Amino acid sequence: MSLPKFRAKQIYTWLQVSGVMSYDEMTNLPKSLRDNLSEKYPIRGCEIEKKQVSELDGTVKYLFRLFDGEFIESVLMKYKYGYTLCVSSQVGCKMGCVFCASTKNGCVRSLYPGEILSQIHAAQRDIGIRVSHVVMMGMGEPLDNFENTLRFIDLAGADDGLNLSIRNISLSTCGVVPKIYELMERHYQLTLSVSLHAPNNELRSKIMPINKKYPIEELIKACKVYSETTSRRISFEYAMIKDSNDSDECANELANLLKGMLCHVNLIPANEIDESGHKRSTDSRLKRFCSILNKKGINVTVRRSLGSDIDASCGQLRNRHKKEIS
Ligand code: SAH
Repeated sequence: MSLPKFRAKQIYTWLQVSGVMSYDEMTNLPKSLRDNLSEKYPIRGCEIEKKQVSELDGTVKYLFRLFDGEFIESVLMKYKYGYTLCVSSQVGCKMGCVFCASTKNGCVRSLYPGEILSQIHAAQRDIGIRVSHVVMMGMGEPLDNFENTLRFIDLAGADDGLNLSIRNISLSTCGVVPKIYELMERHYQLTLSVSLHAPNNELRSKIMPINKKYPIEELIKACKVYSETTSRRISFEYAMIKDSNDSDECANELANLLKGMLCHVNLIPANEIDESGHKRSTDSRLKRFCSILNKKGINVTVRRSLGSDIDASCGQLRNRHKKEIS
């Protein structure tokens, strides 16, 4: 547009630091320029369509409308150390894990980097807080939207932008093995979370179709190489599903699989969703599973479920349609 250089910096700061949703908020730009920009380069951010607040724990779930009328969900959680936002990376998901609501309507499209970032800005502006931690654990498979996910991480970490510490970002994957190696080569200090959910191929392939493409031994090998190369501890997510993956045998097998690895296991009491018949493991099963892992020297914690009354917990975010909302 043949503008002087300083305009770029001004616009960048409005978008990346303030997270404005319209050029009219960019008060240091002349009106004619604002009009021109909004015509040529509309801002494609997240508009709040609906907001729900959990009565149980104050967790906030946002339903965001995107520029093309699609919807995504994000969840804001308050912890002692600050606010964590769980962001989506795609509209829906194509990975097909049987226990997860996000995949039930397939994947409509991947999000642009700015759309992932805009979830943070929208939540910050709405509540008037600063998000200190981001988990890429909302709808979608971040490694199936690889370049945009990395661009998002760069933008979020930029010191003249949101300036988020990359160490405070967790990226969760169902196990897209070649992309784990690619990510490793970029040397990010983020936490890699891997949705494991089963200790062997037979069981994992039944509940996670990705396992047929990248079987468990390839996934575990990639995780070992990743943690050795980056010196970062891998976090394995394991949803505890009643009578499916929660037996003593599974616990023992899991411990053997992960023995000697720089890792941590996060047990998630499975959240029940409408479309799948699975049930959550009992508390006593969960305790027993946890203690077997502990005894075998595996680092393990149980994830506290937040926002369950507003369907904001793991695996409950979904690709909603206009008719469902109104
Ligand atoms: N596609 C990525 C990012 C999603 S993260 C991934 O698979 O890792 C969402 C986390 O919640 C994943 O670990 C997922 O396996 C888990 N999850 C999905 N459905 C769940 C359910 N019903 N109960 C508990 N956890 C679930």
